[in-house]
Amino acid sequence: MSETDTIFGKIIRREIPADIVYEDNLALAFRDVNPQAPVHILVIPKEPIAKLADAESQNHALMGHLLLTVKRVAEQEGLANGYRVVINNGEDGGQTVPHLHLHILGGRPLAWPPG
Ligand code: IMP
Repeated sequence: MSETDTIFGKIIRREIPADIVYEDNLALAFRDVNPQAPVHILVIPKEPIAKLADAESQNHALMGHLLLTVKRVAEQEGLANGYRVVINNGEDGGQTVPHLHLHILGGRPLAWPPG
């Protein structure tokens, strides 16, 4: 198993189940197994970039695609009243799965700042 072959890689390959809400050739979106809001979805690239800090200029289009996927999924989920997008990066950022993921949190008012 490579450093970037995580539980999210297993979800991409359908080796473990997930509640997938969107998929295209570059990205996958599925519900977080431990939701922190009524809507909590993770958007991931199929390419196993470990964390935001590892993204390279060659990933420019992919990074934009991930943000537009967030927008698409938020619309699909009916989050017209707003939502938050979070990327935890590395240990101090609270990242626990080393495969880049964008959290979409919504469905209730969210406090600021986060912990
Ligand atoms: P992080 O703390 O930003 O790395 O977030 C990782 C997220 O992945 C957490 O919110 C977990 O609840 C979520 N998670 C871990 N394993 C699974 C899974 O198998 N399916 C869906 N979500 C998962």
